[in-house]
Amino acid sequence: MTILVLNAGSSSLKYQLFKFSGDSYNVLSKGTVERIAIGDSLITHKGKGGAEIKITGNIDSHTEALKKVFEALCDKEYGVIKNVGEISAFGHRILHGAEDFGSSVILTEENLEKCRKNIELGPLHMPANLSCVEACKQLISSTPNVGVFDTAFHSTMSKTAYMYAIPYEYYTDYKIRKYGFHGTSHRYVSGEAAAYLDNAESKIITCHLGNGSSIAAVKGGKVVDTSMGLTPLEGLAMGTRSGDIDPAVIEFIMQKTDKSISEILNILNKKSGVLGISGISSDFRDVTTAAEAGNERAELGLAMFAYRVRKYIGSYLAALNGADAIVFTGGIGENSVKMRERIISGLDGLGIEFDAEKNQSVKRNAVSEINKTASRIKILVIPTDEELVIARETYELVKTK
Ligand code: AMP
Repeated sequence: MTILVLNAGSSSLKYQLFKFSGDSYNVLSKGTVERIAIGDSLITHKGKGGAEIKITGNIDSHTEALKKVFEALCDKEYGVIKNVGEISAFGHRILHGAEDFGSSVILTEENLEKCRKNIELGPLHMPANLSCVEACKQLISSTPNVGVFDTAFHSTMSKTAYMYAIPYEYYTDYKIRKYGFHGTSHRYVSGEAAAYLDNAESKIITCHLGNGSSIAAVKGGKVVDTSMGLTPLEGLAMGTRSGDIDPAVIEFIMQKTDKSISEILNILNKKSGVLGISGISSDFRDVTTAAEAGNERAELGLAMFAYRVRKYIGSYLAALNGADAIVFTGGIGENSVKMRERIISGLDGLGIEFDAEKNQSVKRNAVSEINKTASRIKILVIPTDEELVIARETYELVKTK
């Protein structure tokens, strides 16, 4: 069975084509379309034999982008399938499932209508996610579409964990509560960690550290708590997001700068975090280079990022009453030797004994242990694979159809 995974952003489209036979699979092709409806669009496509092809032009919509992706996948020279009829299902990453979707679903018209009602909970991502589904339905109406929600894995949180301490009616009237995001990643790495520990009941703290960052406390495969909230703005300090702040700061800045509430929220989402503190970049490689060259604000941004992650790990140790493993994943978690050391060294008092030498030689495609052998809590680095989770979920839902 061949499954096309689609992850649509406001001006981008990432795709990956999987071929399943039984429980095993391989990736036939993958790529990205960038600058949709901006001009000078670019498709970077990995086709037959892994050769990378760049296609340029102007792509005005997700429907246009999908047409180009289909052409690339079926191209006589570098394509990997003969025609789009070979695709058995589309698996879509959908940002927000709200309380409607605690697991993946086939996107029937009824389910799509529920998704449309949740656009207000994810106004930046949901329109693109849903227009990609509409485009698939329009271009190949007979192929099923499956929605895999970023929030779904977190739907096991208790009310104690997901409620905000604000008047109760805001929850009943407007669905205001913590939902959590990066669910497919937390799910994948916590599952891999439990398999590695050979204990399905393990208590695991998963740290997804990338452009957006979040942490989850997982017990027996179920999320107990997570750091992102109603939107991805809550929790850790991130590349451009502030994470947790005193909400009163918002009115204070409004008064001081004469900015509107939406301008302030834009600043908290796009101009804060490590970018806001360093004034240099949201890319941790650039900020690390600057810090090493003596830039004090770059150093402060990185130190604040690490400190916030440590505090969340501490609070989740309390929420879980200890842990079997702490997992690092995401671009920073998988690749930054220095950031892992900053975050997790010096926690011996909590039974977390970091091994600086093992931290230097982490494997690319496997679970790596970076703790001392005697450490009560294991520290693992696990490469995430959100596309694989989406492909598997899609496969499971359509294989019996
Ligand atoms: P992601 O959103 O998961 O793709 O992660 C992107 C982030 O990972 C960016 O801030 C990158 O700078 C960061 N990153 C990737 N590789 C490294 C590295 N070797 N050292 C530090 N940061 C890295």
